[in-house]
Amino acid sequence: MIELAGLTKRYGLKTAVRELTCVIRPGLVTGFLGPNGAGKSTTMRMILGLDHPTAGEARVEGKPYARLTDPLTVVGALLEARAVHPGRTAYHHLLCLAQSNGVPRRRVGEVLDLVGLGPVARKRPRGFSLGMGQRLGIASALLGDPRILIFDEPVNGLDPEGIHWVRNLIRSLAADGRTVFVSSHLMSEMALTADHLIVIGQGQLLADTSMADFIEENARSTTRVRSPDQEALRDALADAGLTAEPARGPGAEGAWELAGDQTEPVGRLAADRGLVLHELCLHRASLEEAFMRLTSQAVEYQARGRAPEG
Ligand code: ADP
Repeated sequence: MIELAGLTKRYGLKTAVRELTCVIRPGLVTGFLGPNGAGKSTTMRMILGLDHPTAGEARVEGKPYARLTDPLTVVGALLEARAVHPGRTAYHHLLCLAQSNGVPRRRVGEVLDLVGLGPVARKRPRGFSLGMGQRLGIASALLGDPRILIFDEPVNGLDPEGIHWVRNLIRSLAADGRTVFVSSHLMSEMALTADHLIVIGQGQLLADTSMADFIEENARSTTRVRSPDQEALRDALADAGLTAEPARGPGAEGAWELAGDQTEPVGRLAADRGLVLHELCLHRASLEEAFMRLTSQAVEYQARGRAPEG
């Protein structure tokens, strides 16, 4: 478990993270979302003891990072900037890390196999592709078999196969009962990976909720219906008290759109009236739509909040 309590970081006049309070629980993938500059990396760095909070506290398994004995066995992290000694092979890089952190030597071979780098274990990471470098970073994070994992933008720059692999790995780590905290600016990827979301904007908490509730609350779903007898369909909908508007967007010509999930009443209505339908579908709001709506509201709110009085 990771606990943030009033976590705050100021750099001079700039407040990067402002009184962040939340709990990141085990057994789930918790996605950490926010526009660029929202304070995600700063928060992760404070959890990992790489930056000191101006106020408040971040605790991992009940303690601040600095008070952990053998931190690598409690929390593993993949941060954006990876430091790998250029002269060491992948195997030696991990071995040094293991030896300085009380991790048994056999674990090095295990994590190399786990991330698929077994065949290149004796090669220097200098020649590694971005994807291989990312796998080595993940191997370092997993080395101490920690209960908590923190990944900052883990799929950045990966090809589709690499993205798929990271997604499955992250999901399986949570399924093992570990606490997994992942930041990403890729909404479609997050929608496939995270169970729970923590959203921040300008350093402040905007949402701490399940993925399903977040989408439900912040984006609207619509029902689209199309009939060759467009006018009769519109009249039938109006008679039933269902408000429909001409659908917009590519391929929407001649279709009607209704707010929310109205597929059942519309389907029943069409059957009762003997109307032929060529399309009846629910368009589910995406995480991206929900996120844009929430963060644009936050920007507006901030802008209004800052407007000088009088
Ligand atoms: P994110 O990871 O969400 O993109 P960051 O945590 O990197 O956001 O940055 C949050 C804010 O804090 C940004 O405005 C950034 O410019 C500022 N910031 C981050 N690190 C420093 C630093 N070392 N000195 C000054 N400002 C910083």
